[in-house]
Parts: sequence; C-alpha cells; structure tokens
Amino acid sequence: MSLRTLLADEAVYRYVLDHSLREHPEQAALRAATRGHPRAGMQISPEQGQFMALLAKLVEARRCIEIGVFTGYSALGVALALPHGGRLVACDIEDTNVNIGRPFWDRAGVASKIDVRIAPADRTLQSLLDAGEAGQYDFVFIDADKTGYDTYYEYALKLLRAGGIVVLDNTLWGGSVAREARDEDTRAIQALNDKLHRDERIDMVLLPFGDGVTLARKR
Ligand code: SAM
Ligand code: CA
Repeated sequence: MSLRTLLADEAVYRYVLDHSLREHPEQAALRAATRGHPRAGMQISPEQGQFMALLAKLVEARRCIEIGVFTGYSALGVALALPHGGRLVACDIEDTNVNIGRPFWDRAGVASKIDVRIAPADRTLQSLLDAGEAGQYDFVFIDADKTGYDTYYEYALKLLRAGGIVVLDNTLWGGSVAREARDEDTRAIQALNDKLHRDERIDMVLLPFGDGVTLARKR
C-alpha cells in the first residue's frame, strides 16, 4: 500500500484549502511571519489547526493544554475556539519563539486565554496535578520532543476528564514508523503507537492526515 494520501497531490491539497480553510487574519499573518524561520517546518498545517479547533469545540473545551508551542500557531487556533473564560496552558522550554507569536495572540484578542509556562513540560504537567487539577481538562495537544510523548500522554490521561481528548502530532513521522527504526525518535513513536492501539483506557484513531495525527478519547 502506498503511503501517499490524496492530500499528497498538490492540486487536491490546494482544492481542500480553497474549499474549507477558514483562518482568522492573525493566523494567516502568524504563518507568514513564521515562514522564514529556520524551523518553520515544525508548525502544524492550517487545515490541521482548523481540525483541532473544531475538535476543541466538539468537546466543548474550556480548559486545554498544549505541549510544544514554537511560534504559537496551534495555540492561537485552539485559543480562538475557546469560549469566554476558557484557558490554554501552553508549555515550551524556550520563550524566544513563543514571543514571536504573542503579538498575534494579542491582536486576535486571545492573549489572556493563553497561560505560557516556560519549563520542561513534564514539570509543568506535574505542577498542574500538584495543584489538584486531575480530571479537570478537556483537550490536550502533544507536539514536543518525541521521546517525551509517552510521559506527556500519561500526564494527559490523568489531567483529562472522561470524554476529554488528547491529540498527538507526527505519529507517522514522515512514514518512518512503518520501517525499521534507525533513531530513538522513531522508536519512541513506534512504541507509543503500539501502546495506544492496545490501550483500553481510550477510544482512538490514527489519522493519515498531516504527518499522522492520533486522536484519543479518554473513557
Ligand atoms: N505546535 C507548534 C506549532 O504548531 O507551531 C509546533 C511545536 S514544535 C514541533 C516543538 C516545540 O516543543 C518546540 O518549540 C520546542 O522548544 C518544544 N519542546 C521541546 N522539548 C520540550 C520539553 N521537554 N518541554 C516543553 N517543550 C519542549
Ligand atoms: Ca508537529
């Protein structure tokens, strides 16, 4: 079976964007501002951002967590989907890139909804548990260091309410998960994919979308 999906066809991909993308002007501006960044490829695609915002609305998310902010495009999309009083705890280990996104969050009117925590994400997640917030979150997006995913996933299951969802990015890792692993990132994603497939604590699907997006709902 070919790994190419319909969306690998440039004309079809363009059609999808032309017929479904609904970006806030500040989202488009932030994408443009990130385009020249040497690590711009880390940003999620606009249709993925829109998908995650829809998921957040579907679960009526009020309290969310993002692990891996970069310049803040995915955070902006989720924050725009939150109701008044909604909160996104946004975790990253360095603020230089996060600070690129802040003016865009501001102009979109959602900066007050985004609570940035600059620290290794496992420390931030533990601090949420220590603050008695187990079972209080609706939506978690995991998009940071791949060898940390399993740890973040276990924290996510503790912090989510039943019916809450966790979205894991890059679970196909350029297709390398389907071949013999040559590096620890691929091995980590392979092991987590195997674990989630068998995990009775969740309902799940691995979507061949973007670089592979796994969606899991806590039972
Ligand atoms: N979600 C972002 C977007 O759509 O633009 C992209 C995130 S980028 C793929 C991964 C981010 O994870 C980087 O900004 C990196 O600094 C951050 N990161 C790496 N290790 C981390 C850790 N241990 N804790 C928190 N963040 C980490
Ligand atoms: Ca990613």
